[in-house]
Amino acid sequence: MKFCKTFPMKYRFISVLVLAWVPVFSHKIQNPITAAAPPDTRVILITLDGFRWQEVFLGADSSLLHDPDYTPDTATLKMLYWHPEAESRRKMLMPFFWSVFGKRGQIFGNRLYGNNMNVSNFYSLSYPGYNEMLTGMADPFISSNRKIKNPNFSVLEFMNQLPELKSQVAVFASWNIFPYILHRERSRLMIYSGSETLPECDKLLSPTFYEIQSENSKNPTRYDVLTFLAAKEYLKNKKPKFLYIAFGETDEFAHDKRYDLYLQQANAIDRMIAELWNWTQTCSEYRNKTYFLITTDHGRGRKKHKWPYHNALTPGSSEIWAAISGPDILPVGEIKIPQQNYLYQIAPTLAQLMGISFPAKDIYSKALPVKQTNELLAATSEKNISP
Ligand SMILES: [Zn+2]
Repeated sequence: MKFCKTFPMKYRFISVLVLAWVPVFSHKIQNPITAAAPPDTRVILITLDGFRWQEVFLGADSSLLHDPDYTPDTATLKMLYWHPEAESRRKMLMPFFWSVFGKRGQIFGNRLYGNNMNVSNFYSLSYPGYNEMLTGMADPFISSNRKIKNPNFSVLEFMNQLPELKSQVAVFASWNIFPYILHRERSRLMIYSGSETLPECDKLLSPTFYEIQSENSKNPTRYDVLTFLAAKEYLKNKKPKFLYIAFGETDEFAHDKRYDLYLQQANAIDRMIAELWNWTQTCSEYRNKTYFLITTDHGRGRKKHKWPYHNALTPGSSEIWAAISGPDILPVGEIKIPQQNYLYQIAPTLAQLMGISFPAKDIYSKALPVKQTNELLAATSEKNISP
């Protein structure tokens, strides 16, 4: 995120061209509409900023792992994350993800099977991506990561207006732009991002937490582990029905050209997700009624020397992935059939999981096909291309 706070000048002429013909879509504030009483479900949404589908499905990339410019200590990283077979490699990198979502959930975005998932916004930057994901529409006027209050209406804001979900939605983000992306003043969402302190959390966290956070306060992205600790304490104590945790350091390390730290952070987040999952399985309010949805806001360059970057002109930047698990999600693991899904489908998917009706137009109401037919999925499981 740090290298993409503003849309580069040389690309602005392209955005002007795009604005000339792309129709403007935006969710205006609407009165909440809900169907029948929503089921008593919980959703935990997790994002890993700028984490590529290549590492999710294929594990560590040999060319980046063996280049001392990106991986200063190749020997140690190879011990941790290298195996000649991609299926073993990806499990070394994200063992919990592959043992749980790979067996009990569904994972979208393995392009080797033609299962494509992309952002639909033109820019492949963070703010445009989070806007698309949370509001259910790409907005051509959101073209940078500048601190602009989002005019669009997110599914989280919508939930927060429903009487049965009021104060049941919480957001913990490492990146300090989230209060703008979710327009905190208007949405009144509980958002705890960057180096902020919030009264809701003060009693839950130790003085050491704040000491570490203040040391890091000049950075727009807080350490992910602090975001996680705050979110976990809030989850245990306040038990929100909808929790969003937005991790940011994978993108930061990639911009810093540190492939070793990028991999280690993904591995650390995998352990954090495991801890949250285990906790939900031991808590009666969450056990057997909690969905986990994990995704990212954009891809990155496919080629070795383009990997640190993501933008409209770097091929691969629009390529993303998503994983889901929960009570009635068919446990087929990796989806191995050709499909095209988009980031904007996350918002209607979240609404569907929460059992609410989020107003959206036409294609933008299309959730991820997480409740696919058994026949389709049987065909999936028979295919097996070695990645
Ligand atoms: Zn970035």
